[in-house]
Amino acid sequence: MLIVQKFGGTSVGDLDRIQNVADRIAKTADEGHQVVAVVSAMSGETNKLLGYAQHFSRQPVRSEVDMLLSSGERVTASLLSIALNEMGYKANSMSGRRAGIVTDAAHTKARIESINPKSIQESLSQGNIVVIAGFQGVNEKGQVTTLGRGGSDLSAVAVAGALKADLCEIYTDVDGIYTTDPRVEPKAKKLEKISYDEMLELASLGAKVLQNRSVELAKKLNVNLVTRSSFSDAEGTLITKEENIMEEPLVSGIALDRNQARISLIGVMDRPGIASDIFSRLAENNVNIDMIIQTSGHDGTTNMDFTVPMDELEDAKSVVESFIDNDEIKEAGYDEHICKVSIVGVGMKSHTGVAAKAFESMANENINILMISTSEIKVSMIVDEKYAELAVRSLHNAYELDR
Ligand code: ADP
Ligand code: ASP
Ligand code: MG
Repeated sequence: MLIVQKFGGTSVGDLDRIQNVADRIAKTADEGHQVVAVVSAMSGETNKLLGYAQHFSRQPVRSEVDMLLSSGERVTASLLSIALNEMGYKANSMSGRRAGIVTDAAHTKARIESINPKSIQESLSQGNIVVIAGFQGVNEKGQVTTLGRGGSDLSAVAVAGALKADLCEIYTDVDGIYTTDPRVEPKAKKLEKISYDEMLELASLGAKVLQNRSVELAKKLNVNLVTRSSFSDAEGTLITKEENIMEEPLVSGIALDRNQARISLIGVMDRPGIASDIFSRLAENNVNIDMIIQTSGHDGTTNMDFTVPMDELEDAKSVVESFIDNDEIKEAGYDEHICKVSIVGVGMKSHTGVAAKAFESMANENINILMISTSEIKVSMIVDEKYAELAVRSLHNAYELDR
C-alpha cells in the first residue's frame, strides 16, 4: 500500500518525539508499505516565529510572514529524514515547492491550486521514504505561501489525493475524533466513524483536530482519512461517506471556537447596497465573515453585528473605519471576549426541537446567547467566553453524548 502519514506539532514536539515518529514510519516501511510523511513544525514553533514578526510590526507583510513560518516545517522534515537515514532507511525530505504544491497568492491562507507529484513519485520509485514539509506551497511567481493555521493536514490530504494513496493517516495527540474536545469535557466519547460532512462542520466550527479545508478536500477526492494518536496504537477514527455509517445520531458532536471576535456596527446608513458594499470590501481584504445579524432599521439607519476570526480583526477594523470616515457608519464596537459553541449532527435534518433543546440548556445555566445561526446539520451560538467550558459541558450532557 501507499500510505501518507501526517504528524502534527505535538507528535514532533522535541527530538525524542521526532525519533518516535521515525520509528513508527520505519515500522510501516518494514511492513512493506511505501510511505510519504507530511510533518508540522515542532509544537509552539509557528507561534514563536509569529511572535518574532509581531515584535517588529502589528500587521507584518504577509509574504514575509510566509517565508518565516514555512521554515518551521522544513526544520522537522529534514530532522526526520536525517533520523531515518541514520536508522538505515533511505529517506528524502522536500519543501512544499519540491513536492510540487502550487497555490494561489493569498499569503498566510493560500489555497492549493494544483499538485505535480513528479518529484515525490520519482523519489518513491527509487525506494525512498519521502518526508514533506507541510503547511506550505509556492504561488505561480514562485513565492512561498502557507495554507492557514493547521494547514499541514491539508498538505497531507492533497498529497494523498494527488498520489492516489490507499490511506491518509493523521497522527496527533488524541487517539481519534471525540464527541467534543476531550480537554474541555473529559466525559467525551471517541467516535469509531464520522461522516465527512459532520467532520467538516465540526472542523469549521472550531474543533481544531482537523483543519476544515483538509476535510473538504478529503471528501471531494474521496481520500480514506483516519485520525489517530502518535503516542499509542489505539484504533483511530475513520472519516468516511455518510452511507458507510449505520447509526445516525441526532447530534454527533459539539465544537468550541474561542478564536472569534464580534463586530457591532451602529448607525449604518440604511440604503440599498450598503451590506453589499461593506461585505464585499471585507471579502476583498480576505476577511472571513461568519454570523451576520441585521436588526430592523429606524431613522434611516440600521445596526449590524457579525463575527470574524480573531486574527482577521485588525484587517476588518481597517475596512470598518473607512466606512466610518465616509459617514456611512456612525460607530463600531469590537468584542474579543466571545466564543462560539455549536452542535453538529446529520440526524438533525429529520428532527424537530433539536435547537430548542440547546437554547433550554443555555437557559438552565443562565448563559445569555448573544447570536444564533443554524443550518441543516448545525446550531451555533455566540456566548461570553467565560461560559465556554460550561456551555460545552451542558450541551454534551443535554444530548447525552457521554452515553
Ligand atoms: P496537531 O498538532 O497534531 O495538528 P492539533 O492541536 O491541531 O494537533 O489538534 C489536536 C487537538 O484537537 C486535541 O489535542 C484536542 O484538544 C483538540 N480537539 C478539539 N476538538 C476535538 C474533538 N472533537 N476530538 C478530538 N480532539 C479535539
Ligand atoms: N505549523 C502550522 C500551525 O501551527 C501548521 C500545522 O501545524 O498544521 O498552524
Ligand atoms: Mg492541527
